[in-house]
Amino acid sequence: METEGLVKIHEYQAKALFARYQVPVPRGEVAETSAQARAAAERLGGGTVVVKSQIHAGGRGKGTFRDRVSGAPVMHPDGSKPLGGVNVVRGPDEAERFAARMLGNVLVTRQSGPDGREVRRVLVEEGMDIRHEYYLALLLDRAVRAPVFIASAEGGTEIEEVAASRPEAILKQVVDPRSGYSPWIGRRLGFGLGLPAQEAQAFAKLCAGLYDTFVGTDASLVEINPLVRLADGRILALDGKMSFDDNALFRHPELRELRDLAEEDPLEVEASSHGLNYIKLDGNVGCMVNGAGLAMGTMDIIQHHGGRPANFLDVGGGATTEMVTEAFRIILGDPAVRAVLINIFGGIMRCDIVAEGVVAASRAVGVKVPVVVRLEGTNVERGREILVSSGLDFQVADGMRDAAEKVVAAASGR
Ligand code: GDP
Ligand code: MN
Repeated sequence: METEGLVKIHEYQAKALFARYQVPVPRGEVAETSAQARAAAERLGGGTVVVKSQIHAGGRGKGTFRDRVSGAPVMHPDGSKPLGGVNVVRGPDEAERFAARMLGNVLVTRQSGPDGREVRRVLVEEGMDIRHEYYLALLLDRAVRAPVFIASAEGGTEIEEVAASRPEAILKQVVDPRSGYSPWIGRRLGFGLGLPAQEAQAFAKLCAGLYDTFVGTDASLVEINPLVRLADGRILALDGKMSFDDNALFRHPELRELRDLAEEDPLEVEASSHGLNYIKLDGNVGCMVNGAGLAMGTMDIIQHHGGRPANFLDVGGGATTEMVTEAFRIILGDPAVRAVLINIFGGIMRCDIVAEGVVAASRAVGVKVPVVVRLEGTNVERGREILVSSGLDFQVADGMRDAAEKVVAAASGR
């Protein structure tokens, strides 16, 4: 499941959290070099292990590797096919050989985007004798205002596909957050998945651990795909995905340290380092606003006039000229941006400060797209004067509607 504006962590980190909350996971170790991968395979007993690429994108099993420098496909060591992101191998020698081909190269998956992601770490895990793959997730459902378990006996594939083709194969169980988790919730799901009584019991215990993980870390989503039943009857989390609302991270400094900035949108990372709130969207109008309410209103009115926001950047209440400059630089750093709308209501934030920042940033960055500015509030006249007398080519708008019309026209080249 894709969720936006959230902080993600790697599979190996999610599994470490699972283990802490009594959710069973395979034994394994993370490795950053092929020698470490070999050593890990040795410590796991020298038998079959699975070498798994650690990137913040799913679909690794079906993904393929490309050479980071040449872009050419990286082949499986037997030469028969492109190398995949998850490899079951026999023993330490093979673990080392596979890790050497994976580390430092780029894995392209259905979720990674066409450029793929560089693999900097692999997880080496004991091989498992899998009998069945299930899907299990716990997420915050805003419509029912409660955590909801989602489960399916058709795990291993993407849940969106199951939801589209066989919605009846997906089970849901809402947890009342006031009473919390009760074992009947997990037992009911377990029987719904067709598990025999004893395994439904083990499954219910795992669900309890998953609920504790979710609540204990303030997670927005915990997803296990696949959850597996082994030949010996054990039930384990074979994969793990977690995401967190970054507004909850201040309560969890230990989770903040799990962030992998190399995996996050570089512009979002840069914005947060300047105290700016930047969200990447998929349209072509860049938006600089102050305040979350105005951000929502601005996006709505752009859409109402037939445009699509490329991003929005909230400079907050007390931005300085330097912050506005940085904000403008970040918006223009997004190649999808065809026009920019600056929509500021100056209360605490003075319009002249905004205007100075916009002018300074335009000079420093060199703006190649039309910029529409709508300023209202404290020192608005002074702000407009600064824009007009700058000699730069701004379109000063009169009100929200005029601003939206102007910027949508500009973005579509009219
Ligand atoms: P994803 O493709 O990014 O979701 O990565 P997963 O961790 O879900 O792995 C993809 C697939 O690899 C799983 O659905 C399993 O079928 C397979 N796989 C992963 N670990 C093992 C293992 O220990 N043994 C075997 N036989 N298969 C595994
Ligand atoms: Mn998976």
